[in-house]
Amino acid sequence: MAARNIYGLTPESLSTFLKEQQLPAFRLTQIYDWLYRKNVTSFSEMTNLSKDLREQLEKEFYFALPKESVIQHSKDGTIKALLELEDGAKVEAALMPYDYGNALCVSSEVGCNMGCAFCASGLLKRERDLTAAEMVGQVLFFNQLLNERGEHVTHVVVMGTGEPFANYDNVLDFLKIINSEYGLAMGARHLTVSTCGLIDGIKRYAREGFQFNLAISLHAPNDELRKRLMPIAYRYSLKELIEAAREYVEVSHRRITFEYLMIKDLNDSLESADELADLLKGLLCYVNLIPFNPVSEKPFERSPRNRVFRFRDRLNMRGIKCTIRKEFGQDIDAACGQLRAKDKEQGK
Ligand code: SAH
Repeated sequence: MAARNIYGLTPESLSTFLKEQQLPAFRLTQIYDWLYRKNVTSFSEMTNLSKDLREQLEKEFYFALPKESVIQHSKDGTIKALLELEDGAKVEAALMPYDYGNALCVSSEVGCNMGCAFCASGLLKRERDLTAAEMVGQVLFFNQLLNERGEHVTHVVVMGTGEPFANYDNVLDFLKIINSEYGLAMGARHLTVSTCGLIDGIKRYAREGFQFNLAISLHAPNDELRKRLMPIAYRYSLKELIEAAREYVEVSHRRITFEYLMIKDLNDSLESADELADLLKGLLCYVNLIPFNPVSEKPFERSPRNRVFRFRDRLNMRGIKCTIRKEFGQDIDAACGQLRAKDKEQGK
């Protein structure tokens, strides 16, 4: 079998490997400790492993982490990076300094095929899925950066380029790896997956038995409008999507976040707010209003601030909890996919 990137090994798969090799289970905690706490990047540095074991591991696994291609620092502390992977493909990740911690927005695919009308990521079609190792690599890259000031990534949102539920297994492995108590030990409640609404994925995710969060990109209160923004609305109606969301809440007992992009004169009226309130009535959820990040290639405009407040107040009044997403990186290429699209453009 071809060698595997060590950063893509979940605790379960590493433990299976150890069993197959008739090695003791405690090697798992030792290896994870070296990888994620002591941050070594070769087996020869894992000095508490026997020489034989190190040689054995060397044959089966290798170390590969993404390399910095472009990095942008915003005045507000946001750091955006374009990272180069083993095969030369490039992905974006962005770190946002919230008051509660450092949240990293991670990409799940190279490009995206969901085709949302307002999104810069979809300008470039999907080339391939990211492996779990490549998602872990995005976290480790930023941890290394933050390490210099004694900080680390505290929250992860899988909200970068790509549709995570179109790459379900790798995304789940990624979450299991960074959640593992032997390694980075990032709390499940600090980890969020955002989907455009792939229903099979939502149902599966509900049953994983983890405390990971789920966000659904809704962006419209009815099918007609949603179809104008998101091709996925042709595949699944809002009725089906909300049913899946109800099932998720019932099975997982977790609250869902609905993301709702505020686009001027399109979905930001009080009528839309009322329609949204009707749609979400009785569902354990909250709505996160996203100020639209204008993308030059797209015809949409952002909602004026007072309209966003009005929309939020209406939802709150109707009993739907609603917040406005804090904006980051206004002075850099903040919108998902912008940096990569620009890099590709320049490379032509
Ligand atoms: N495919 C997943 C995750 C990637 S998109 C999803 O659809 O949820 C992450 C979030 O960024 C989504 O809510 C998406 O709708 C939003 N987004 C895309 N383009 C945007 C833009 N120009 N301005 C603000 N948010 C945007």
